Formats: sequence, C-alpha cells, structure tokens
Amino acid sequence: MLEIKVSRDECIGSGDCCIASPKVFSMHVRGYAIVVDPMGDTAENIIRAAKECPAMAISVIQNGEQIV
Ligand code: SF4
Repeated sequence: MLEIKVSRDECIGSGDCCIASPKVFSMHVRGYAIVVDPMGDTAENIIRAAKECPAMAISVIQNGEQIV
C-alpha cells in the first residue's frame, strides 16, 4: 500500500489531483487537497497524479521509500 501525503502549505488548490484520481483525492473547503482513500486507485494512477501536481505538493511513499 502507498502512503500518500499532501502538503497543505505547498498545495495551490488547482484540483488536478482530484480530476486525475477522484476517489483518492478531494478538495477541502479551505482550498487544499486531502487524501480521502489511499486505496481508491491503482498505484500507477496515484503516482502519475502526484507527479503531475503543479506545486509538487504530493508525496508518495512505498515500502518506506519516497518515490514521488
Ligand atoms: S494537484 Fe497539487 S496543487 Fe493541485 S490540488 Fe492537488 S495537491 Fe494541490
């Protein structure tokens, strides 16, 4: 299983991650993304969503190793 983190300080609220992987990410009313279900998508799609974040606010850790 992946450990997914969103940095609230870095997130610019673009919503890209919520479009790329809508079961995993959601927008908080305060305008930053949150992780709602880390099992909600394939690892491939989650990693792609994290890499495409324009603010590089998403980190993904797999087996103790940060891969994004
Ligand atoms: S893609 Fe990045 S900047 Fe945009 S809402 Fe998600 S975490 Fe925030």
